This record gives sequence, structure tokens and C-alpha cells, in this order.
Amino acid sequence: MYALALVSPHRRHPFTTKLALVGGAVATALCWTFSCIAAEQFEKPSEPPSLYSCPTPPHSINNNTTALLHHQLPADTREPMVAIIIDDLGYQLSAGKQLLALDAPLTLAIIPFTPHGKTLAELAHQHHREVMVHAPMETLSNRSWEPALHEAMNQQQLESLSLKMLSAVPYARGMNNHGGSLLTQRHEHMGWLMAVLAEQQLYFVDSRTTPNTVAGEMALRQELPEQSRDIFLDNIRTVDAIRKQLHKLEAIALKHGTAIAIGHPYPETLKVLQEELPQLKTKGIQLRSVSDVIGATAKRTKFAQKTIQPTQTTTHRQPKG
Ligand SMILES: [Zn+2]
Repeated sequence: MYALALVSPHRRHPFTTKLALVGGAVATALCWTFSCIAAEQFEKPSEPPSLYSCPTPPHSINNNTTALLHHQLPADTREPMVAIIIDDLGYQLSAGKQLLALDAPLTLAIIPFTPHGKTLAELAHQHHREVMVHAPMETLSNRSWEPALHEAMNQQQLESLSLKMLSAVPYARGMNNHGGSLLTQRHEHMGWLMAVLAEQQLYFVDSRTTPNTVAGEMALRQELPEQSRDIFLDNIRTVDAIRKQLHKLEAIALKHGTAIAIGHPYPETLKVLQEELPQLKTKGIQLRSVSDVIGATAKRTKFAQKTIQPTQTTTHRQPKG
């Protein structure tokens, strides 16, 4: 598992928290700490500008090793890959249809029990687009949500609502959280949820609405395919800001091999996607479904584990603890 952190240091928040503890990396730790404090203020935190400009963590493999690894990677994972999730779907059929009209394999995250959620999931499937459940979860701000997974639920209640959410969104291959700044901090509840997803052979994407999320950690304990989103595209809802975020996503993928973004069906987001996505290929980046990206990350990780072991020295422990 430590090799996972070596390859993708930006992915595992529990790991970065530990990083702050191991010393000798004060600048990096401060940088990540700052980004976490910033994220805590909002349900959908802005991607802090510091994230990408953080100094390279001390555990990172050097450039030569990265280049060597790259050439030896399995062919299907060698090219950098991004996935873009568009979430909060299901209220307006037109928004979903506009996304499907884009000739691009975006992944659609649909809120269960919404007026058009089921229809949109079926349409997406017909258009060969991947579908996810965008599951409402209790937030710290205690605002009222759609039927949501709550801290007050016992195991049976949480499992039952999770299963209903899954069946409300046909063809779903995985789930991410809508809100959840409170619930994703709860080990017990996340454990119950991940067990349901594991049984259904689904994946989980942590939207990371709080820096204290344990969702990814609990998914790993269930051996569930999982990955955290790297950036939000449209917290600042202007064409320029969204374009900048998309370029940041591309840079992360070029550096780390894979990256996941979350956006929303805003006209500004659609405009940027329409203009920018056709150029991805010329930049050597593939736009793929979330399950493809999670699969590629797993392959890269396994490969790195096999390749870089004995000579690496590292001071951090496995994220699972
Ligand atoms: Zn949402």
C-alpha cells in the first residue's frame, strides 16, 4: 500500500495527515494543512490553489524512477487518463440530455428519487455513458437534503436506504457522496455503507466534502475499488475559472497517471467541456469512465508495488493503520 502513496501522493488524505506527523517535511505539511482548513469551510470545498503548487512530498519517487516506471507500465494504463463526473443530476431532464449530446464519455452521478433520475440513468445507459448514484449524506451544516443517509440511522436503516438508492438509479456502477461532511467522518456508518457496495460489486468515489473524511479508508478495508476526486471543476462558476480547473486536472493526470474531477451541469461548465474536451487527445490524455480510471490506478499501483520495493526507504505507514 505504501507504493500507492508513492505513485499517487495526492490521493490519500489519511496518508497526508500522517505525512504531517513524520517530520522533515514541514513545508509540505503546512501546505496540505492549509488546503484542509480551506476545504472545511464549504460543503463543496474549492480546490485550494496551494494543492497543485505544494512542494513535492519527501516520499515521492524521483523523476528518473518515474520515467522508468512509465515505460514499463502495462500498455493500457500508460497513457494519462482522466474521468469527469457530472453530479447533482436528476432534477432537470434537459441538463442530462445536454450532457449526453456531448460526444464525450462523461460519468453521470444521479441523485436517487429525483423526478428524472431513473429516466436519465436509462438514457445514459443507452448512450453508453457510465452512471453513478450521487448519494445524499448528512452534512455539518445540517441543511435539509433529499432522503439522505444520516448519523442517527442504525445499521439496518442505513443498509436499507442505501439499497433503495441503488435501485432508484439503474445501471449504476458506483457511488459518490452528495454532501456528507458529517457522515463521511463516521467510521461505523462508512463501514456499513462500504459493505453494501462491496456486496453489490460497486466502486466508491469520495467527493471529499471534508478533509476529515474516512470514506476512502473504510472502502479500502472492504477492498472496494475506490478513489478520491482530485478537483472540483466549477466551485467558481465562471468560464475562465472552470477552464483553469480543467487544465489543472490535465496536469495532475500527466504527473500521476490518472485524475478524477467533479463538475455540475451548469451552462458555464458545459461550454468549457464542449470547447476543451476535443483537445484532450492531442495533449496525450484520455477521457474515460470512472471505472476505467479506478481500474488503471489499481493496475499502476500493483505494478509499482511489484517494481519499487526493497530499495525504497520511507517513513510513513500504510494509510489503513
Ligand atoms: Zn452533490
